[in-house]
Amino acid sequence: MQNPLKIAIVGSGLVGSLLAVYLRKEGHTVHIFDRSPDIRKIQFSGRSINLAMSHRGWKALDTVGIGDAVREIAIPMDKRAIHVRDKITLQNYGLEGESIYSISRGSLNRKMIDLAEAAGAQFFFEQRVWDVTLSDATLHIGETERGEWKDLSYDMVFGADGAFSRIRHRMQRQSMFNYSQEFLNTGYKELNIPANDDGSHKLDKNSFHIWPRGEYMLIALPNLDGSFTCTLFMPFEGENSFEKLNTHSEVVSFFEKNFPDSVEVIPKLAEDFFKNPTSTLVTMKCFPWTYDDKVALIGDACHAIVPFYGQGMNAGFEDISILNDMMQRYGNDWKKIFSEYEKSRKPNADAIAELSYRNFMEMSSKTADDKFLLQKKIEKRFYEKHPDKWIPLYSRVTFSHRPYSEALALGDRQKAIMDSIMQLPDIENIWDSEPVENRILSLLKTE
Ligand SMILES: Cc1cc2nc3c(=O)[nH]c(=O)nc-3n(C[C@H](O)[C@H](O)[C@H](O)COP(=O)(O)OP(=O)(O)OC[C@H]3O[C@@H](n4cnc5c(N)ncnc54)[C@H](O)[C@@H]3O)c2cc1C
Repeated sequence: MQNPLKIAIVGSGLVGSLLAVYLRKEGHTVHIFDRSPDIRKIQFSGRSINLAMSHRGWKALDTVGIGDAVREIAIPMDKRAIHVRDKITLQNYGLEGESIYSISRGSLNRKMIDLAEAAGAQFFFEQRVWDVTLSDATLHIGETERGEWKDLSYDMVFGADGAFSRIRHRMQRQSMFNYSQEFLNTGYKELNIPANDDGSHKLDKNSFHIWPRGEYMLIALPNLDGSFTCTLFMPFEGENSFEKLNTHSEVVSFFEKNFPDSVEVIPKLAEDFFKNPTSTLVTMKCFPWTYDDKVALIGDACHAIVPFYGQGMNAGFEDISILNDMMQRYGNDWKKIFSEYEKSRKPNADAIAELSYRNFMEMSSKTADDKFLLQKKIEKRFYEKHPDKWIPLYSRVTFSHRPYSEALALGDRQKAIMDSIMQLPDIENIWDSEPVENRILSLLKTE
């Protein structure tokens, strides 16, 4: 147990509320401020964005005993269902029993706030934090940026206020603070597949559905109420792009042409298309993440990534696991805790940013490619026979707790080996043969 401190967390999102549970366990007083109303009290359909939770997220929840409460609102997905023209191909994500879990972000956030409150954290909603004084961890809160502010002093402040963090904004004005932000020219829009009349799902509910079409794709994740949340990822401009879809009939004919089997299950296609916003995707990197022993950034506030590996929240939750490791190791020495936390996490945050960026191509193009699916089969076979020698990149990222930076480095090495295996003559017919297996073994020795 640490010496109790008075700690403020800015942001009651997923990361802020889980952090509160951890800090309460150590006996600290925890106040959480959020500019939004209490998500538990606003009208909310329960659909919203869906997230895929995997090993790193579960570990952070299980460590403080709240994993099972979250499992109640999660649906396991053990495979990708790839919708290519007139057929659906299934591709398991990992080994037998390994799944990622679909959870509605809204439902999860409500639950996390309940759990943090039960742990003794105090929430203050509709409180806009405009600034922080770094040297003495004082928050400046008010209705408007130019209006009157109240100043609240703490021993420590955590900025869990997301990709456009105000806490980071203040840190950015320091010298030697590195910062970069890059928007994709691909945006996204949410659509909905409602449940059948009897409440059942219209598509297989234990699959992550993908309609890969090269530069654009549609995905669908299951909800508990029988519906699916779909997301269309597509460039803002160009031949197949948001700028080209301006009328109901343009939208309907685009879907009929490109995602024919989706049209019958999305009854309000055009209505939802024009009602729901088109949102942007950003990668944000920065460093340092901490100021003295006073202020630290966590979650999207210090590493916003594009969503194509399903790891943003998982990475934010893993920040908390690592921070907790440092708290257990260094007791009350918060300078050391903060410096070791940022040193440990930064290379891993950069690695998952890179992997996420690259994974767009895998999801949107390669999953429709027979050669790629064959490569996955070869890797899976080899993994099952030699789990001590080979773990596929996806499994290293999703079903392991090893550092993301290690997954990136080993993934590149494995890719070089697989590129050479895929060049073997007649690989389509000899893929599960002993010579192929031996070739991988020998390449592993020489690489
Ligand atoms: C389309 C999409 C799909 C995704 N899919 C996945 C997935 O499958 N798996 C996964 O792990 N991750 C996924 N993510 C990423 C995930 O949503 C984020 O990484 C995660 O929500 C970050 O949580 P956070 O608590 O750090 O920040 P946020 O969720 O952004 O929360 C920040 C909070 O801070 C509050 N706030 C902001 N500014 C202020 C202020 N000035 N004063 C007071 N309060 C403030 C906000 O109101 C908010 O409540 C996806 C993201 C997107 C966009």
